[in-house]
Amino acid sequence: MKGCLFIIAAPSGAGKTTLVRELLARDPALKLSVSFTTRAARPGERDGVDYHFVSRDRFGAMREAGEFLEWAEVHGNLYATSRTWLEGEMAAGRDIVLEIDWQGAMQVRQAFREAVGIFILPPSIEELEQRLVGRGQDRADVIARRLANARGEMHHVGDFDYVIINKELRSAADEIEVLVRAARLRPSVQRAHHPQLFFQLTQSDDED
Ligand code: 5GP
Repeated sequence: MKGCLFIIAAPSGAGKTTLVRELLARDPALKLSVSFTTRAARPGERDGVDYHFVSRDRFGAMREAGEFLEWAEVHGNLYATSRTWLEGEMAAGRDIVLEIDWQGAMQVRQAFREAVGIFILPPSIEELEQRLVGRGQDRADVIARRLANARGEMHHVGDFDYVIINKELRSAADEIEVLVRAARLRPSVQRAHHPQLFFQLTQSDDED
């Protein structure tokens, strides 16, 4: 695989979606994977852009057919990453961002050992609570469930390679951009992008 894979996870309310949007705007070489979900679309969300919105039956059939690289149940809805899309993009050398939960992140890292795991934390629990309530798109019971899930999700921070504390969008985006740039400089990635140079290096080794 020539491309780099970045897994970005966060409790809901940590500002992940805005941060990822900023990252994609700064780095046009990055491509965001569009997940499949059984959740209903929120106002303004578009099918095929924000998610592929599918029925539980369709989701189950795709899962049985092995079309998902990973899948998980989050807040009572099912979510999954397309295996064929991801493998095709990465083989073509494109760098991919997965915005998924920690359960999915663990599954992806089994398949792609070189994937870079990044976890986003809010600056404080109080701020997280405020952001969850302030969003105003969901019912009170949904918010309470999200808060409980957020606390559970944050326990998995140690399973990731890097942690970004999202206090201020610009500096958090600076930090995440640095991680992306550094990942592209790893020997395995450089080798995939510059095969001729690395081939020459082995040749001169032989001559020495
Ligand atoms: P939301 O419904 O608020 O868009 O997302 C809820 C949670 O599901 C978030 O933590 C999000 O990262 C996660 N999620 C979105 N897509 C996927 C996916 O394809 N796989 C997994 N495992 N989680 C996902």
